[in-house]
Amino acid sequence: MSDKPVILMPEDIQRIMGKDAQRNNILAAKMVAEVVKTTLGPKGMDKMLVSPTNDIIVTNDGVTILEEMQIEHPAAKMMVEIARTQENEVGDGTTTAVMIAGKLLENAEKLLDRKIHPTIITKGYRIAAEKCQEILKDISLKISPEDENILKQIAMTAMTGKGAEDSKERFAEIIVRAVKQIQTKGKIDLSDIKIEKAKGEGIRDTELISGIVLDKEKVSADMPLIVSDARIALIDFPLELKNPEIDTKISISSPDQLQNFIDQEERTIKKMVEKVVNSGANVIFCQKGIDDFAQYLLSKEGIYACRRVAKSDLEKISKATGGKIVSNLNELTHFELGDAQIVEEVKQGGDILTYIKGCQNPKALTILIHGGTDHVIDEIERAIKDGIGDVVSSLKTGLVVPGGGAIEIEIARQLRIFGQTLSGREQLAVEEFASALEFIPATLAENAGIDPIDVLTELKFKHDAGERNFGLNLFTNKIENVLEARIIEPYKIKSQAISSASEVAIMILRIDDVIASSGGKSGGMRSAGGFPPGMSGEY
Ligand code: ADP
Ligand code: MG
Repeated sequence: MSDKPVILMPEDIQRIMGKDAQRNNILAAKMVAEVVKTTLGPKGMDKMLVSPTNDIIVTNDGVTILEEMQIEHPAAKMMVEIARTQENEVGDGTTTAVMIAGKLLENAEKLLDRKIHPTIITKGYRIAAEKCQEILKDISLKISPEDENILKQIAMTAMTGKGAEDSKERFAEIIVRAVKQIQTKGKIDLSDIKIEKAKGEGIRDTELISGIVLDKEKVSADMPLIVSDARIALIDFPLELKNPEIDTKISISSPDQLQNFIDQEERTIKKMVEKVVNSGANVIFCQKGIDDFAQYLLSKEGIYACRRVAKSDLEKISKATGGKIVSNLNELTHFELGDAQIVEEVKQGGDILTYIKGCQNPKALTILIHGGTDHVIDEIERAIKDGIGDVVSSLKTGLVVPGGGAIEIEIARQLRIFGQTLSGREQLAVEEFASALEFIPATLAENAGIDPIDVLTELKFKHDAGERNFGLNLFTNKIENVLEARIIEPYKIKSQAISSASEVAIMILRIDDVIASSGGKSGGMRSAGGFPPGMSGEY
């Protein structure tokens, strides 16, 4: 045999194996959970995030915090992914999901310390996760989609303790009306709710517009500021001759020829505008450009026009007004026009917006958020989006659960009973899974300055006595029936949080070898066992 070393990988590959890899990953995941923990619940605190360019975000929203942190550690990134999935699938519950995953890993570490093999832990976690879903389904409550009161309560629970707190009742009303309005044959497409922002007035002036608010001004000052009984043409081609993307060269040898050419152009534009006028339209939204001469002619006809309207906005206007997007002027007749009571240009703070409002039975509409500063408006937007997500999700499944930690305690209780029927060491993992869920009510208490141990003890006592809707009511700081206190959340928040948290925890636990190529700036796993890279602030 030769005594030459066997070279498996290039030298710059970094590798951590076995326990080191495991501990490093768990530490990173725990740190991610730790970051968002203080924001959980109505008494949670906000975070101020400052970007390298000194942009500031003040938020309480789990996924926003984690995305802005630019986390580099691979296991920590998997945690961020949980928040993203939660955001996409439900639109709320991101902090909860990340915290459960972090706690599952922290508890797994305790078992690892007791020399329990990771495969036993992951097996136990898998069994527990499955059982949780069963219990959750079993104890969640059916709602009727007609019950707008419940839907409002769900929206309000989502917004409790956020920037939207003071006006949450009004916002809940707006959210439920908006969602109900765009619902067609039981289907809801969230993109039909446009969220537009207007700086200047207070958040209480936030309004639901039965139509679309466009971030656009009319093309010419000579056009009317307001058009009543608007008949709206939606076109996705330019009202101009030259294609600005193509350079055209025309050789002209005499002044006559030039005049001819100009006349020709003007005639064509005139014809285009005539077709618009003949259709009966008094408003045009054009996806492309509108030529100066066309603007002049349109103004003369008293037509209100906006150009370069985004395709997605054009589609929304179409859904709101019932107008059809036309691709050929010859197809434009009064049948294709949409209707709105009013189209109006409005100055809001420093912005100029176009309101298309008073649409009959619009299938797309706008929530126009008002607020004093961009930071306030953005945080209101996140809160309103949580509310919308929760209402939609509750309508989709028709199932809700009691909040304030009630559902977590009840699942944990039943999971523990189930665990005792298992004979192997998986039992211990199931036990730890249950205690990870209890981390939610414990943190709700802790963030409100209430002793978490007292809260857990009392909650467990109540649930053992069959009071499954008892949770921590943070309006009153008492343990009580939270359903009666109207603290209600969608079933899907919990089912999604449990499934993605357990999946990721299991995935991280199964890793015992991290092989990182050192290409790229992240530095991968450089500090084996130490402070996870990407979390230290120097990357
Ligand atoms: P997430 O990102 O997980 O949605 P939140 O900060 O929105 O985090 O907090 C959600 C938690 O707050 C849920 O567990 C919910 O039941 C709880 N919660 C909401 N309102 C109340 C309340 N009035 N009293 C107690 N808990 C509440
Ligand atoms: Mg929430």
